[in-house]
Amino acid sequence: MIIPVILAIDVEPDARLVNLRAPEPWGGYEHSQRYFGDLRPRIEALTGAAAHYSWFLRLDPQVVQAYGSATWVVDRYRAHIEEIQQQGDELGVHPHPYRWLDDEGTWLHDFGNQAWVDHCLRVSLDAFAVALRRPCRSMRYGDRWLSTPTVNLAEQLGIRYDLTVEPGAPALPTPMPGERGSGLLPDYYRVPRRPWAPSASDFRRPARARGIRMIPLTSGHLRLGPHPRRQLRRLVANGIRHWRQDTPLSMWRSWPAPNTFDRMLDRALGAQSRPYLAFAIRTDFGVSPRIMDAVDACVRTLLAHPAAPDFRFCTPAEALAVLDR
Ligand SMILES: [Zn+2]
Repeated sequence: MIIPVILAIDVEPDARLVNLRAPEPWGGYEHSQRYFGDLRPRIEALTGAAAHYSWFLRLDPQVVQAYGSATWVVDRYRAHIEEIQQQGDELGVHPHPYRWLDDEGTWLHDFGNQAWVDHCLRVSLDAFAVALRRPCRSMRYGDRWLSTPTVNLAEQLGIRYDLTVEPGAPALPTPMPGERGSGLLPDYYRVPRRPWAPSASDFRRPARARGIRMIPLTSGHLRLGPHPRRQLRRLVANGIRHWRQDTPLSMWRSWPAPNTFDRMLDRALGAQSRPYLAFAIRTDFGVSPRIMDAVDACVRTLLAHPAAPDFRFCTPAEALAVLDR
C-alpha cells in the first residue's frame, strides 16, 4: 500500500522577532536548499519514485517591513524557486500576522485582530501571484494558528489545501514564551485525524464537499507509564477516537525512549485506517546545530522505517489523489 508523505518546509527569516534595524539573513533557508536537495535523490533511490516537497513562503507584512518587499524571498532566491518548481514541488504561503508596535519597539502576534489576519493573508496571496505568476493553492498559517473566518477567506481566495492543523495541540496564549500575542492559539483536540472538508461555521468540524481541504499533520501518542491522571486527561481532551494521535511528530524535538521517533511513527501509522504522513519543518533548523541534528535524526529514522519503500513524498494534491482513491 502506497503511503503518501508530505514534507512541508516553512521558508522564513532566521529570527522570529526580526530586527528592523538589521534584519537577519535567511541562512536557514540556504541550508535547507542544500539539505533537501541532497536528500531528494536518496529518497528517490529508496522509493523508486519522484520525490516532491512542499515549500511554504513568508510573503507577509513583516517581510515587507523588514526586507522591503513581500516578494523578497522569491526575488532573492529565484534560481532555487525555479529549480524546485521544475522538480514538481508544491509552493504555498505561510503568513504570520506579526504587527509592529512602534511604542513598544516589538512585534505582536495579532491573532485576535481578524482584520489584520485577513490583511496578512491577502498580502501573501497577492505577492505569490505576482512573484510566481499563478494563483496560490496551498497554505500553512503561521504558528499553527487558524480561525473559521480565515479558513473561509482562504477558500474564497483560491486556497485548496491547508496544512496548518496539528492534531492534539492545546490552546495557548502565545506561540513562544516571552513573545506577545493577542487572542489564543486554538486547540486541535477534537479535529479529524485525516483530511477533511471544513464546516463553514467551525473549521475544526467536517462538512460535505468544499473547495478547501484541511490536511492535518501527523500525530502519534506517548507511552505515559504509570500516570493514570495524565492518561485520563489525554482521553478526555481528545476523545476515545483520537487519543492515539494527540502528540504532533515535530522533527525539531528529540525523542527519547520509550517514545523514540520510530516508535512514534509506528503508533501514528497504526492508528490510521488509511495511513499517510505529514510533517512541517521551519527553515531556521539550519542555523541551530541542536535542531539540525534533531531534524536529521528524524529524517533518517523516517527513511529507515520498514514501510519506507512504500512512502511517496508528494504534494498535497498528489497525497489526496492517493487517499481519495
Ligand atoms: Zn512560521
